[in-house]
Amino acid sequence: MQTNFSSAQLADPHVAESEKILRKCVHCGFCTATCPTYVTLGNELDSPRGRIYLIKDMLENGRPADKEIVTHIDRCLSCLACMTTCPSGVNYMHLVDHARAHIQETYDRPLLDRLTRAMLAFVLPYPRRFRAALRLAKLGKPFIGLFEKLPALKPLAAMLKLAPASIPAASPMASPGVHAGQGAKKGRVAILTGCAQSVLDPAINDTTISLLTRLGVDVVVPPGEGCCGALVHHMGREEAALASARQNVDAWTRTIDQGGLDAIIITASGCGTTIKDYGFMLRLDPAYAEKAARVSALAKDITEYLASLDLPEPVRKPGTIVAYHSACSMQHGQKITRQPKELLAKAGFIVREPREGHLCCGSAGTYNILQSEISAKLRDRKVRNIEATGASIVATGNIGCITQIASAVSMPVIHTIKLLDWAYGGPKPEGVRDESLIAAE
Ligand code: SF4
Ligand code: SF4
Repeated sequence: MQTNFSSAQLADPHVAESEKILRKCVHCGFCTATCPTYVTLGNELDSPRGRIYLIKDMLENGRPADKEIVTHIDRCLSCLACMTTCPSGVNYMHLVDHARAHIQETYDRPLLDRLTRAMLAFVLPYPRRFRAALRLAKLGKPFIGLFEKLPALKPLAAMLKLAPASIPAASPMASPGVHAGQGAKKGRVAILTGCAQSVLDPAINDTTISLLTRLGVDVVVPPGEGCCGALVHHMGREEAALASARQNVDAWTRTIDQGGLDAIIITASGCGTTIKDYGFMLRLDPAYAEKAARVSALAKDITEYLASLDLPEPVRKPGTIVAYHSACSMQHGQKITRQPKELLAKAGFIVREPREGHLCCGSAGTYNILQSEISAKLRDRKVRNIEATGASIVATGNIGCITQIASAVSMPVIHTIKLLDWAYGGPKPEGVRDESLIAAE
């Protein structure tokens, strides 16, 4: 694509980066076919190619964002299916991240939208605040129907619908410290405790620590780590995202300096995509660029790491039919497609892949709150495809997808690590029904 930026504009490294990306796009439109919002809405401006044109026009003309571009960029899930499809290697992720930061800087959103976004950014990345908000949500649940009738309050209704009926207690295993591996040492890793996942399902990380230590891996919970920054990054709040990235880079660098690390384990693929991008996000910060690149290189999804170990034979082979839902951040963001399915199959599960597996379930961070109507359409389409597999369990590796799909599907939606842990001698995951076991034994 021809671009027309002035040399003064290109002196801004963010614009220079976006210009490089824009020049790679050859307008072929292959990406439109796999874009969930184009498939759902049928509007070119809700396709990757359409958004790329809008972003180009805004940046080239040095214009503040307007209502039209905000509408279409807000509808983008950042699922990155377009990056998997694109034959020209267009880095849509970095382009849309730049556009979102530009929108945040230059566009005056309506008051309620501003307040909703500020509230999400204030609450979600902080486990204590999030837990308190979920308790409050119980009081608001009876008003969901009323809020749904008022367009400006739809995000509030969506939040209340997604809030779980019960909130698990915080896990003591998430406190800073070292969980020593058993037997012959296989490695030393840090684990990201994270934010929303540690509140919604702390058992995911507990199970990960339990399995890894049984396999002989030391697991460090480093003091000082926090939210990866993805939630605010996707809202265009660059400074907040970079502050989270720096905090984690500092925490993990101290751990590396105190005994080395083979990997930084991430159990929510949405976080993994962002942490693997820290090297890029902090490239312009001389105090952090090198450390951030080192952290990104060490970041591994738990299935990526397990696939690199020489695993023993499973203790039990459940034989259960599992529909594997590959989160967008797993398959498009991190290009991890093989390992989770192979691990599940090796552990004795019968793995089925739902049709249209490339399409997002509609969760996408805060998307299911801020764009609840499109999100619900994508969720229902995903659930239809999952139910058609005939599976009795859904496995996936991202808490956002678990919450989203579980809100509409008739079978348990379980993190992949819990199923693997079960096969390797851990307890049966909560929600797995006895009929699954009948197939097993
Ligand atoms: S990130 Fe997803 S929703 Fe956004 S343009 Fe690409 S394919 Fe479409
Ligand atoms: S597939 Fe790639 S090159 Fe083609 S229009 Fe989409 S982004 Fe541009």
